[in-house]
Amino acid sequence: MMDMDQLVALCRRRGFLFQSSEIYGGLNGFWDYGPLGVELKRNIREAWWRDMVSAHNELVVPAGAPTAYEMVGLDCAIIMHPQVWKVSGHYDLFSDMMVDCRESKKRYRFDQVCGRWVEAKGQRVFVTSEGLGDDALKDIEEKAIKFYGLRAKQADQLQWASGLEPLATLDLPQMESMRETTAVDVEAAETASFTIRPSKEYDFSRVLAPHAKMLGTLTDPREFNLMLETYPGPIKDEANRAFLRPETAQGIFVNFKNVLDSTRVRIPFGIAQVGKSFRNEITPRNFTFRSREFEQMEIEFFCHPSTSRAWYQYWRDRRYRWYVELGLAGERLRLRDHEAAELSHYSCGTADIEYAFPFLPPGQFGELEGIAHRGDFDLRSHMEGKLVRQGDGLVVELDAEGKPKYRGSGKDLAYFDDQTKERYVPHVIEPSAGADRATLAFLCEAYREDTAPDEHGVPTARVFMKFHPRLAPVKAAVFPLVKKDGMPEIAREIYAELKPHFNVFYDEKGAVGRRYRRQDEIGTPFCITVDGQTLADGTVTIRDRDTLQQWRVHKKDCLAELRERIARGNS
Ligand code: ATP
Repeated sequence: MMDMDQLVALCRRRGFLFQSSEIYGGLNGFWDYGPLGVELKRNIREAWWRDMVSAHNELVVPAGAPTAYEMVGLDCAIIMHPQVWKVSGHYDLFSDMMVDCRESKKRYRFDQVCGRWVEAKGQRVFVTSEGLGDDALKDIEEKAIKFYGLRAKQADQLQWASGLEPLATLDLPQMESMRETTAVDVEAAETASFTIRPSKEYDFSRVLAPHAKMLGTLTDPREFNLMLETYPGPIKDEANRAFLRPETAQGIFVNFKNVLDSTRVRIPFGIAQVGKSFRNEITPRNFTFRSREFEQMEIEFFCHPSTSRAWYQYWRDRRYRWYVELGLAGERLRLRDHEAAELSHYSCGTADIEYAFPFLPPGQFGELEGIAHRGDFDLRSHMEGKLVRQGDGLVVELDAEGKPKYRGSGKDLAYFDDQTKERYVPHVIEPSAGADRATLAFLCEAYREDTAPDEHGVPTARVFMKFHPRLAPVKAAVFPLVKKDGMPEIAREIYAELKPHFNVFYDEKGAVGRRYRRQDEIGTPFCITVDGQTLADGTVTIRDRDTLQQWRVHKKDCLAELRERIARGNS
């Protein structure tokens, strides 16, 4: 198992990822991509756009698809009309529960605090941690020892009365009853960013908070809306409050009619968008996995209700295959169908593509992408107003006076099929991926350590990043073996020939073995070396990053060789 700290150090050292505003101590939840990181993430975004949109052939039926289909793209504004978020449900429901510690002044996501019951010296206490798995167990034991005033060697006096369990599940019945009051509370606290819950429901008096020394310092759980607010224009008041989008999807729904009216697309078709989203995550963590600013790659696929299940199946499988094709195959990647209880109220089916990130405890997976069958929920919401489930159907949510709580646009977003003469509200399948989480997964998957002979033939430890050649930030490095005998001139010629086509790197400094290692560490799949034989017969050496094999190619054929190998996908 790779060590996450080593990957984080490599990312910083070689310029993949930096903490945002690092010289000022960083800003929690924000990250900057360095010169190599930006190439990697762009390659991932471009692979997605190419494979899903620009290279999609609408004239043929792809494997597993019910029929042929069209794909188009959009690039919408980050700030949208505030009504969009009221109608979509984000204003009322897009929240996490949080708890505050009165002693440490720290804030935690309620569902991320775990603990164990322990008893010593006649007192039973629930000791908590913010960590996961083994880290949490270790942290909890150390805290319990401190709390009871024991020495490390007296740890056997601690009687553990439970395994690691979430704080949130201690009082499950109360949790359920609290959830039902959500909508009302949010409405009452219109201007507050969170809702205060009835205090008597929870008893945290025997809970030791993650960074506290005293018991009972946690507040009751409160709801915290994850949307970041802003005030466009010169006046900062309630009427001018807008939100930074928490997802790119809504921009697609509100432009559905514009796309229909301005192009010749016919159902079934998909609209794709790549762009920044913002969520005021309570506890950003695990490198870029949970950030407050991140990039999404989303498709809203519109189809006839009668074929929507088949399309859902198609997208679920297609999107999983995409990750496999780019190198995430193996037991660390999985496709998990949601249980009925996990589905949101409008969804008829959801699957997550998940990756076993190394920072998670063994056996746990983190979401890379969700594929949801959303029915007609989104288009109908933007027509009629915010919808809630009633029995088997969806109805407009009403306020105390019996009027729609949040009005829709009133625009007709139904689709008229001029061949069948049928009018209907299309169903939507939504594959929603995170560009940053995908980048992180590809970085984790690529990290390798092995032993390879150095320039003197001595086996030495080597770190290399085994990126798929399509994703590799630098496709090839060009070296003259030595800085004389006309070798640099030939190497520069090859470099100049490749540069317009690929991101290639020229290096003539230091021993060639060291130059290879530096390229291995950033995942460059091929190194091209001009050597003595080049002067004689015009051939150069190409070295493979993964197998270390070397072969000779005429210098005129470097471009074709790289093209072919990158397209083939293995170095
Ligand atoms: P999670 O449960 O991990 O918070 P989610 O289910 O809320 O994720 P979605 O709303 O389905 O996520 O968003 C789609 C995708 O956007 C996710 O699969 C993920 O790749 C990405 N994403 C969501 N939140 C974040 C975040 N805070 N930081 C980075 N990427 C994110």
